[in-house]
Amino acid sequence: MQSEFEAVIGLEVHVQLATESKVFSRARSRPEGGRSVGEELVNMNTSPVDTAQPGTLPVLNKKVVEFAIKAGLATGCEIRPKSVFSRKHYFYPDLPKGYQISQYDLPICEHGKLEIELKNGESKTITIQRIHIEEDAGKNLHMSGYSLVNLNRAGVPLIEVVSGPDMRSSEEAVAYLKSLYAIVTYLGVCDGNLQEGNFRCDANVSVRKRGVEKFGTRAEIKNVNSFRFVEKAIDYEILRQIEVVKSGGTVIQETRGFDSAKGQTFSMRSKEEAHDYRYFPDPDLPPLILKKAQIESIRGSLPELPQAKRDRFISLYDLSKYDATVLTQDKKLSEYYEESLGGIGNSKELGKKVANLITSELARLLNDADLDITGSKVSAKQIREIAKLLSDDSVSFSMAKQIITILWTEGGDVSSVVEKHGFKQMSDTSSLEPIIDKIIAENEKNVQDYRAGKEKLIGFFVGQAMKATGGKANPGMLQDLVKKKLKG
Ligand code: ADP
Ligand code: MG
Repeated sequence: MQSEFEAVIGLEVHVQLATESKVFSRARSRPEGGRSVGEELVNMNTSPVDTAQPGTLPVLNKKVVEFAIKAGLATGCEIRPKSVFSRKHYFYPDLPKGYQISQYDLPICEHGKLEIELKNGESKTITIQRIHIEEDAGKNLHMSGYSLVNLNRAGVPLIEVVSGPDMRSSEEAVAYLKSLYAIVTYLGVCDGNLQEGNFRCDANVSVRKRGVEKFGTRAEIKNVNSFRFVEKAIDYEILRQIEVVKSGGTVIQETRGFDSAKGQTFSMRSKEEAHDYRYFPDPDLPPLILKKAQIESIRGSLPELPQAKRDRFISLYDLSKYDATVLTQDKKLSEYYEESLGGIGNSKELGKKVANLITSELARLLNDADLDITGSKVSAKQIREIAKLLSDDSVSFSMAKQIITILWTEGGDVSSVVEKHGFKQMSDTSSLEPIIDKIIAENEKNVQDYRAGKEKLIGFFVGQAMKATGGKANPGMLQDLVKKKLKG
């Protein structure tokens, strides 16, 4: 039903920059000393600039510029030697100036791109139209019968990263978001706390008949701050628009919200046009002029980025591109992986096995518990101990997986789990041989058939022997021995 239509998706992502002070004032930009945003007293992090007192003037935070340039360079953007701050006017109680300072026709970064990896193994390049600097607004708190305004967030620095309309499915949109998220957190320009709205996305969605070049009218879904919700919101919106078109209606250009409880988008307001905002250059702020040397020195300070790390993992450990992407998209996860391999050397085989343990067994446990790697109940050090057992063949891969699950659910240490559950792989020929001999002796007919060319029967012998050892035989060694014995 969906195949007659094609979706077109473009994303605008607001990335909150991890600076200490605000973009145009000295007020704190984030809570002090590990407190969460919710624990802050309302309006404590404000200055006369943020509350728009008459006669105050904005002063640009240098760190914000540096962070925006970093994000631009890491996404292949050109950095404009001259960019301009503009006023974007609208009225809302959380915006006491009556305008938001943003960048309009001359943003700091333009023409970038991002590569995404899809589950089917394909990659795709998504263009980035622009990245601009802007200030966040405050927050309205709606009480019963009245509202209050908290300006702690007013003036918090953001960059808005605007993609081209290049994505065709929610999978591509989520892959793009994860890739961008990885970059800004590797750079350290964003704390990446999704719950606190450090990384929020507006999704523009339209549909068109396949083969039609012209884009359909888009709806913009505002402020979705989890990857899972973005996926749901886009999928819902695509189906909704297809229904509208199919029933002979027209999609209207509008701003929509996402109700995560219902899994539905809903209309909020008709979309404003750029001219409604009466943009003009802010006379309080001079144009931002950047020298080449400044930009190049920032380029020189960039850390290893997710893609480079991914490629390093691929060449060191022979990982698939997809697995390497999963491991490197979360900086902490990539560090966990490296730590779990620490001191074991660059064995390709072991690197691959450990990657598998993390992306299969551990990822499943984390996912079921809705945790990220920082909440893992199995430490990287424990994975390293398991890896050592794997590397000297004393446990099999399937045992390694079981050990992880047991550590997660019962706790304890690796050696006691191994001992208690008898995880000891049989890797010596002297104990395996008699078992195989017995099975061969008891299955005369199958032996003859095998020797006559029914090579598939190897599976039968290996399976029987594995069963006889209670699943403890070293599978590779068992296979070799069975083959040798059957040859006679
Ligand atoms: P704004 O939404 O602020 O008016 P733009 O008009 O530049 O800004 O568009 C913002 C986003 O909408 C971009 O990410 C762009 O790729 C995307 N977009 C534009 N047209 C369409 C369309 N027809 N369908 C889906 N996305 C679109
Ligand atoms: Mg928009």
